[in-house]
Amino acid sequence: MTTALITHKACYDHVTPPGHPEQVARLDAVLGALEGLDLVSVSAPMAADDDLLRCHPQAHLNAVRDAAPADGWRSLDADTHMSVGTLEAAYRAAGGVVKAVDLVMSGEVGNAFAAVRPPGHHAERETPMGFCFFGSVAVAAKHAMEFHGLKRVAIVDFDVHHGNGTQDLVEEDARVLFFSSHQMPLWPGTGAAHETGVGNIVNIPLPEGCSSKVFRDAYTREVFPRLAAFKPELLLISAGFDAHAADPLAGMMLQDDDFAWVTQKLCDVADEHCGGRVVSALEGGYDLEALGRSARAHVKVLKERAR
Ligand SMILES: [Zn+2]
Repeated sequence: MTTALITHKACYDHVTPPGHPEQVARLDAVLGALEGLDLVSVSAPMAADDDLLRCHPQAHLNAVRDAAPADGWRSLDADTHMSVGTLEAAYRAAGGVVKAVDLVMSGEVGNAFAAVRPPGHHAERETPMGFCFFGSVAVAAKHAMEFHGLKRVAIVDFDVHHGNGTQDLVEEDARVLFFSSHQMPLWPGTGAAHETGVGNIVNIPLPEGCSSKVFRDAYTREVFPRLAAFKPELLLISAGFDAHAADPLAGMMLQDDDFAWVTQKLCDVADEHCGGRVVSALEGGYDLEALGRSARAHVKVLKERAR
């Protein structure tokens, strides 16, 4: 069994203004770092509107489509900008994660990593924000339930920022158990432990300067037991690598090896409860070298554990 690598050249056509951290070069850093891992390359299709509509109202789809510029940029907020190629890239980012679910559910691959951008975990029902337009991982979770008939899907988001968008999209859906670990205080400011949805949201705020030990202890105490008790039928990962010590946007102190460690532990739960079915999608990570090394550490484990 093997690991699918899902991406699309259109993800390079989402161009952000000069100096923006969520830059085209991130995708090169990730894909370059994954070379030699013997992954099955798959082209990311455009998401179907029907898939997006499980998370976002038609008005949101229309607003994003109408905001797409004919040239230059259109800024939706101070951080979130659309270039000519952004609309297609956002559709392929969401479609790529949905495709990853299809490949894993059909058993064509053991697990999958979607190296796509723009990221998705900050996009709320009707609000693009934080470099995100559509909630790709939440869209894929709903697809897994509505199309593949799953009853329990877990999402683990270890990006350094709170997955406010994913939380907004799943917080009323008890079929989804969502974990977000993140530095707090930090943008976007949400993600306190008392935000629990319908009992399906687990927020794990971590301090600035958070060490590998504090991170691992938090996951050992708050994520793995609860995840195992939920017995997910599919595990989705919002893989942001910006909790790395080298990242310029945050102040956590993780090292490359921490991403391998958390991936191993998540694969342990997936092996126990869902036949190893794991779908991971790129979120943040803004130091290009640390991003590449961390993504490689993460995907290398997925490849080793694919069954
Ligand atoms: Zn982030």
